[in-house]
Amino acid sequence: MAFVSEKVSQLPPYLFSEFQRKKKQKQAEGVDVIDLGIGAPDLPTPDFVIDKLTEEVKQPANHRYSTYGGCQEFREAVASFYEKHYGVSLDPETEVLTLIGSKEGIANLVQSVINPGDGVLLPDPGYPAYQAAVHLADGEQILLPLDPENGYQPNFSTIATESIQRSKLMLLNYPSNPTAATIDLKTFMEAVTFAKKNNLVVAQDAAYDLITFGDYKAPSILQVPGAKDCAVELGSLSKSFNMTGWRIGYIVGNKTVIKALATLKSNIDTSQFLPIQKAAATALTSDLEAVKEHNAVYYKRMETMYNGLRDMGIEVEKPAGTIFIWAKVPNGHTSMSFANRMLEEAGVIVTPGNAFGSSGEGYFRIALSVPSERLEEVVSRMKSMKREGLTSSGNKDSS
Ligand SMILES: *Cc1c(COP(=O)(O)O)cnc(C)c1O
Repeated sequence: MAFVSEKVSQLPPYLFSEFQRKKKQKQAEGVDVIDLGIGAPDLPTPDFVIDKLTEEVKQPANHRYSTYGGCQEFREAVASFYEKHYGVSLDPETEVLTLIGSKEGIANLVQSVINPGDGVLLPDPGYPAYQAAVHLADGEQILLPLDPENGYQPNFSTIATESIQRSKLMLLNYPSNPTAATIDLKTFMEAVTFAKKNNLVVAQDAAYDLITFGDYKAPSILQVPGAKDCAVELGSLSKSFNMTGWRIGYIVGNKTVIKALATLKSNIDTSQFLPIQKAAATALTSDLEAVKEHNAVYYKRMETMYNGLRDMGIEVEKPAGTIFIWAKVPNGHTSMSFANRMLEEAGVIVTPGNAFGSSGEGYFRIALSVPSERLEEVVSRMKSMKREGLTSSGNKDSS
């Protein structure tokens, strides 16, 4: 341990490694394992983005360092996307910063905003990288209560005053991983009012902003009048354009926060490879038809899985966005016992809800990252699992 810092050795272990080990073992036994644990798109990056990358990669001028905050072309593309999509004006010089994926941005953002000991309000259940980021910044995580009875909306009135006073930053994530919850602008308004009243920075993780279904359009927190006084929003091309491996995202909003993050980052990295930034600029300024096509695919998968789970009596809400389904485990199970049973009896990997925080106990997450036919196979395997105990909404008449 002498070679490893306390901070790093205290990081939680990688939660999915145990399931990945069991997956290999099952596969070695000849089981056709269906992995719904991986929260990443299986679809390819759109061709026009790849074409732009290959064109730019041939230009020697693009082989040099990018400017620290990211190249102008990408920052202007982000600003133009915000103007067109949300009606929000941004100054590409001071209100937009390139990130090497939003995960990088989250970790460095927390470092840039808080002092050791400061509280950070985190959604629970929430994306595990938030907790890690707070730990690395020597912050204290304070759970932001989300109300499952009310679609996992934040419940500001139930946070202890003393906890609020110790806090400096609040993270939100809508459309949400893992719960697939979505939000309306009115709730973002309440979040901004709450943040201003309590001198908090609010950071909204918009990784799934474009992955929405039907008439629902996810709002930006920056659409709230005056939001730039306290809010930043993190965006990513990973999920909406199937570009997880490219490592490209952005943060927009409050100038002071963005400047602090840019200063920290200029001491750590030198932004992303220019051809990647330029190809991503093309994606953001496109007509977004590619995103609509991906959403149609996710919608069909979602319906297949949602209907299948409902048929089995599993309690689940129909999501309006994201690539996830969040459902209650059947009666008599914990998140972990159900996930284990799914792997043992059906050869299917799902993520136990408690991997996203203690409030996730009693739930499981399905990533819609395999084709519909495979999801139909999942449903049929689940239906042939022992029926006993395989309902979470049942027992209504007896209770
Ligand atoms: C996938 C994901 C990210 C990370 O996206 P990158 O831009 O690839 O780093 C951030 N937040 C949430 C909620 C995610 O699910």
